[in-house]
Amino acid sequence: MRLPTQLYVVPTPIGNLEDITVRALRILKEVDFILAEDTRTSGNLLKHYGIENKLVPHHQFNEHKTIENIVARLTDGASCALISDAGTPAISDPGFMLVRACIQSGLRVECLPGPTAFVPALVNSGIASDRFVFEGFLPHKKGRHSRLTILAEEEKTMIFYESPHRLVKALTQFAGYFGEERYGCVSRELTKIYEENVRGSLRELITYFEKKTVKGEIVIVISGKS
Ligand code: SAM
Repeated sequence: MRLPTQLYVVPTPIGNLEDITVRALRILKEVDFILAEDTRTSGNLLKHYGIENKLVPHHQFNEHKTIENIVARLTDGASCALISDAGTPAISDPGFMLVRACIQSGLRVECLPGPTAFVPALVNSGIASDRFVFEGFLPHKKGRHSRLTILAEEEKTMIFYESPHRLVKALTQFAGYFGEERYGCVSRELTKIYEENVRGSLRELITYFEKKTVKGEIVIVISGKS
């Protein structure tokens, strides 16, 4: 059966394997092949759902080289699904370049709605969610200072992805640029057994996390400048 769309961008769970839609599972079964960031991780996921399909590696290290070939296959009538290790592809993950190339070639692209870490983190924070900026991972060195200087004036709620071993350092930097009374929330291990949402001023968050060995995956949500 020929599917109406050539590229399906399919979100996968960020921890809890129940968080996948019925439609996502059908598309993963029906496409001609699946582009996966890590074929081993995605192989386990497909096995869990009893899906057998061809997995093709598509990650930040090969996407420049493979896009042309993928677009050619899709132009010939094939359909594929793009998945990442967790959450929505193209959100702090590979995907944007392939989506853009497909659109430029006149192919039909469809992103299914589904899991992504920043939405539950934003809603759990209790911080204004009507207007927000998604910053993803801040640059580690070059560009970090100028980004934070601009963000010090940001009035919308800000969302950051951060690794656990850099959490306290990042919070301390935020306190330096935004003031230690600025309110924030750290969401850790969303949708998993040890999910934790810690809310408070940056000073309180630093005090809480510097006493611990921080593990797991982290989203930081910070109030905008009032
Ligand atoms: N594509 C993913 C999405 O849609 O959210 C993001 C992928 S990015 C490589 C991985 C980062 O997402 C982690 O370092 C963490 O900041 C965040 N993340 C992913 N899963 C998470 C979870 N279960 N709890 C908290 N943060 C999570």
